Amino acid sequence: MNIHEHQAKELLKKYGANVPNGVFALTVKDILEKAKSLNSQKLVLKAQIHAGGRGKAGGVKILNDISELEKESNNLLGKKLITHQTGPSGKIVKRLYVEEPSDIDKEFYLSCLVDRGSSKIAFISSDQGGMDIEEVAKKNPNKINTIKVDFNKSISDLDCEKVIEIFDLKPDQSLEAMNIVKSIYKLFIDLDASMVEINPLILTKQGKIICLDAKINFDDNALFRHPEISALRDLNEEDPTEIEASKYDLSYIKLDGSIGCMVNGAGLAMATMDIIKLYGEEPANFLDVGGGASKEKVSEALKIIISDKNVKGILINIFGGIMKCDVLAQGVVDAAKEVKINVPLVVRLAGTNFEKGKDILDKSGLKIISATDLNSAAEKIVNEIK
Ligand code: ADP
Ligand code: MG
Repeated sequence: MNIHEHQAKELLKKYGANVPNGVFALTVKDILEKAKSLNSQKLVLKAQIHAGGRGKAGGVKILNDISELEKESNNLLGKKLITHQTGPSGKIVKRLYVEEPSDIDKEFYLSCLVDRGSSKIAFISSDQGGMDIEEVAKKNPNKINTIKVDFNKSISDLDCEKVIEIFDLKPDQSLEAMNIVKSIYKLFIDLDASMVEINPLILTKQGKIICLDAKINFDDNALFRHPEISALRDLNEEDPTEIEASKYDLSYIKLDGSIGCMVNGAGLAMATMDIIKLYGEEPANFLDVGGGASKEKVSEALKIIISDKNVKGILINIFGGIMKCDVLAQGVVDAAKEVKINVPLVVRLAGTNFEKGKDILDKSGLKIISATDLNSAAEKIVNEIK
């Protein structure tokens, strides 16, 4: 789960890291009122969306004084921001954040994430902050420093020193930066985060170290332990079909292609997406109905796929193990009674109760193209939508 910058800064502050003073609001009236409490003539207005790259897209405005806030807030609220992280469809700004400006001397990069390969927590730091870290990694890999910490132990001063070494700071500034590293580590472990990214972490002209931007992701599987974090979820930032799918415990992720996929098992879902690409098309979604899905769940899954306007064809690829093919077939037929399927539908069934499933589909009166293996299934659906 993702949270907004202002929420991430609130958490960082609680854990003792320096962040600028700021206020957030959902309306212009509210932001004008709240901004009066800030202790600065100049202000920084920042669009709150679950994506970075706002600076370049006009989502970060430096204001000379509070008199500019009303006009700029009206311009930003409700506006669609398209950044390199939102994709071409962009994101609508629904909340605003105003904070005190910092006099930036240097911008650094600092992040903390789970390194699955080593089963450790990795800190990544760079003196090339404020820009796309993937670009830095490509062009200047020597400007990126990675330090791994055993998550069963607390972080040592030596680890912290190694993380911040690349920033080349003076001794008192180093202590402040090390304190931020410790705060991030404690937050990361306490709250089951999967990533904390500060880009940029800055050195101000006055010699202070401050987290100027903040992004935190949490491990969804651990959210039950943190109701206060779950409460920070902003459904406005999530795809409505993904929210609907999560109600039925379906693993659904919307993608940009044209072939809707219904599959059981994440591995089979990946293979199905790969083979669709191999035949020259793109999947419209990732959808895993899971092992022992009921016919209701299958039916909901199909309705969600059909509700995607980009879907030009559907491929159902089920290997019946615990999941029975007849249950799947009945779910498909039930869904088809409620919503019209007016795109080609290719079904490949194999495994438990395959004959029963085929029989249900054959007698349903639905126009279904059947396939016996994954290759021909992908080929058929791609040919159908050409
Ligand atoms: P994003 O990563 O979405 O572009 P950031 O919060 O990183 O958004 O802001 C982009 C840039 O705007 C920063 O690199 C920094 O140069 C400037 N900026 C952001 N917040 C402040 C602030 N409080 N004071 C001064 N400059 C800021
Ligand atoms: Mg940033």
